[in-house]
Amino acid sequence: MSDPSLTWRSYSPSQQQLFAPSEEHSMLREMVADFTENRVEPQAEEYDTKECLNQDLFRELGDLGLLGITIPSEHGGAGMDAVAAVIAHEELSKSDPGFCLAYLAHSMLFVNNFFYCSNEEQRTRYLDKVLTGEWIGGMGMTEPGHGTDVIGMTTTAIRHGDKYILNGTKTYITNGPEGYVFLVYAKTDGKLSTFLVDRSCPGMSTSNHIPKMGMRGSSMSELIFEDCEVPAENLLGEEGSGLTHMMRNLELERLTLAAMSTGIAERCLDIMIKYGAERVAFGQPINRFGQIQRYIAESFAMTQAARCLVYQVAQNVGPDIRNRIGSDAAKLFAAPVGKQVADHAMQVMGGAGYCREYPLERLLRDAKLLEIGGGTLESHQKNLTKDGHPPFEHHQTVESMLLRALPVAASIPSWVYYPSITPC
Ligand SMILES: Cc1cc2nc3c(=O)[nH]c(=O)nc-3n(C[C@H](O)[C@H](O)[C@H](O)COP(=O)(O)OP(=O)(O)OC[C@H]3O[C@@H](n4cnc5c(N)ncnc54)[C@H](O)[C@@H]3O)c2cc1C
Repeated sequence: MSDPSLTWRSYSPSQQQLFAPSEEHSMLREMVADFTENRVEPQAEEYDTKECLNQDLFRELGDLGLLGITIPSEHGGAGMDAVAAVIAHEELSKSDPGFCLAYLAHSMLFVNNFFYCSNEEQRTRYLDKVLTGEWIGGMGMTEPGHGTDVIGMTTTAIRHGDKYILNGTKTYITNGPEGYVFLVYAKTDGKLSTFLVDRSCPGMSTSNHIPKMGMRGSSMSELIFEDCEVPAENLLGEEGSGLTHMMRNLELERLTLAAMSTGIAERCLDIMIKYGAERVAFGQPINRFGQIQRYIAESFAMTQAARCLVYQVAQNVGPDIRNRIGSDAAKLFAAPVGKQVADHAMQVMGGAGYCREYPLERLLRDAKLLEIGGGTLESHQKNLTKDGHPPFEHHQTVESMLLRALPVAASIPSWVYYPSITPC
């Protein structure tokens, strides 16, 4: 008989080491899980319908120290690492991936990127306000004519005395409607450079919110620059250093997007396991049917495999550790898992899953974005193939990552697979 006190969340010691390598990580997970259950979950459906960010709740993330999770503590941040960022995104996404996407755009795409390419004077002007959430931030990279082909961007910045004049349009910018400050990539003499542009800069405006399929707890818009005057002291780093900033930050972006997918998958797994045990058809719980067991079992295996890869890569990503291959592989593998597991859960639940009474249809809509935003699946395939030839460095190969992750996956005891299912 299976022990009913055990659930699939009861991890073996080796998993604990991977998913929460320190006491600090465990405490963080507990804190974010608690906040998610008590504060994020109750508002998720409402803001999905309203299609905007819950700004008051967002600022509570600042009170918890989460908006500067990767910023050193001597600068007012939480001083944590990429594993911590993954934990926060995974937990928040169990309830409201849309809200989490706004968090990601602010804390990863703006705050983390800004901190690691700014000088002291720039930090003095901006850091406190974005760490508390008083100012909401975002990042402008994508343009109407250049998404995957981002290096081809056409937004320009031309120096005139003590200002740069920016012209161009960025699109699909998360937090555009609510944001005050943006990290914007533009070309100076054909080279990518990074600028801080805020709403006090003359010539900067945003479009209306762009409606979307999912992730509706966050909003997005265009950023429009028409002879926009940006103080020269808002150049981050030097002219031409934008490509390095962008590539370094994309790694953390892809990893945390991958973690959002594993969070969605875990939630959907919980829902389908419970429903499968409770729903009766033909006189017995539907989890006695082999086809239903297949949905549940494969979902569990996919979720665990994705988590193992994401957490393994997270231990090898940081401000001074480049890991483009790992972060591309993690997102390429994990992004479809959230969508597939949400779809499996909907199938297990039949009509109930399709209706809005349950969060599944929202989670399924949200999950799709992870195959597109922060790089499409095809762009990860392209990057991995291009970067992998000539051969990957040994410590970064997909093969070596999987070899390290597999023993962990293999150590998952069999009772974890079907905890709440009566053996047939
Ligand atoms: C909800 C949402 C939030 C977003 N938030 C932000 C944000 O905050 N900041 C920001 O800068 N951007 C943001 N984006 C933009 C996002 O990063 C882009 O949508 C993404 O990079 C893809 O670009 P694209 O939409 O222009 O698609 P395209 O690049 O036009 O791609 C269209 C199709 O062609 C394929 N393709 C393109 N090139 C190749 C190739 N070489 N080989 C094979 N296939 C290829 C793509 O994979 C895709 O299937 C967001 C997007 C969405 C939907």
